[in-house]
Amino acid sequence: MASKAQRIIVTISIDTECDHDPNWVRSNPLTFDSINEGLPNRLQPAFAEVGAVPTYLLTVEVLENNECVQTLRNLEGQFELGTHLHAAFVEPEKKYFSYAGIDSSDFQCGYPEHIELAKLANLSDLFEQKLGYRPTSFRAGRYGANEQSLNNLQKLGYKVDSSVTPHIRWIEPNAIVDFRHAPEQPYFPAADEIIVAGDYTDQRILEVPVTVRPRTLRRNPIWFRPWFASVDQMKRIFHYHLRRHPDRELININMMFHSMEVIEKASPYPQTPSEVKRFIDDMVAGLDWCKQEGAEFCGLSELHDTYRKAA
Ligand SMILES: [Zn+2]
Repeated sequence: MASKAQRIIVTISIDTECDHDPNWVRSNPLTFDSINEGLPNRLQPAFAEVGAVPTYLLTVEVLENNECVQTLRNLEGQFELGTHLHAAFVEPEKKYFSYAGIDSSDFQCGYPEHIELAKLANLSDLFEQKLGYRPTSFRAGRYGANEQSLNNLQKLGYKVDSSVTPHIRWIEPNAIVDFRHAPEQPYFPAADEIIVAGDYTDQRILEVPVTVRPRTLRRNPIWFRPWFASVDQMKRIFHYHLRRHPDRELININMMFHSMEVIEKASPYPQTPSEVKRFIDDMVAGLDWCKQEGAEFCGLSELHDTYRKAA
């Protein structure tokens, strides 16, 4: 149970992309069931059941597809829309002009600062052009962000980044990001080191790490995430955070997954309709249990205001 001083806020941050295949390669031909079927018919009704507020972080191919944009414009219920960059698919230095059957492992932070900034600006401008307002929440493809990425996002008016996965290090051919010693709870990062909290200033972007419980003797880190964690494990991760941060007035639990995970065979995870049902049932059960424990829900960007007031 939470202490009286603690306010628990659950966010759900979803990388929202074209369908992939069971090996995590983009579908061929490129399909978008995860947007046109997944968001309106599978995810939004499930979130409405518990009053949860998802944040859909959109990739370039989703924003370039008119049917997807229509689906997003017509989406009902509560939600936030933000952006998600896979750097090889956006100018400048765009590597692929047809995305079907492509896997790209580039980390955005492996590009020079001005190239990364221009890629982020182009993605943000496309979002604004299609949806009519500026995005304020973000996650890097493959979590490949560093301090340069956060400073670039801040220049573009972003309020929240959610690229940090505590306890985990990611290695790709063009860069390494090491989040093993990153804070587990939201923080205003230092300008020169993504995994260190810095001084709060009015414009500073808020880092909202993905909720991951550290490695224990016998097992790997566990994510607060359907498919990766059972409902019982989600409960244990939730309690771990309350125990671990007893002095914090605000506790955030940030569930992440991909839109493709609710379409069978569009990710390495659910492969059949019954597995998709289990995924969604576990997600709803985990979120509903958080609500019974006193948690509230909001979109990622709203956290900036909440933490700004606390700072
Ligand atoms: Zn992605």
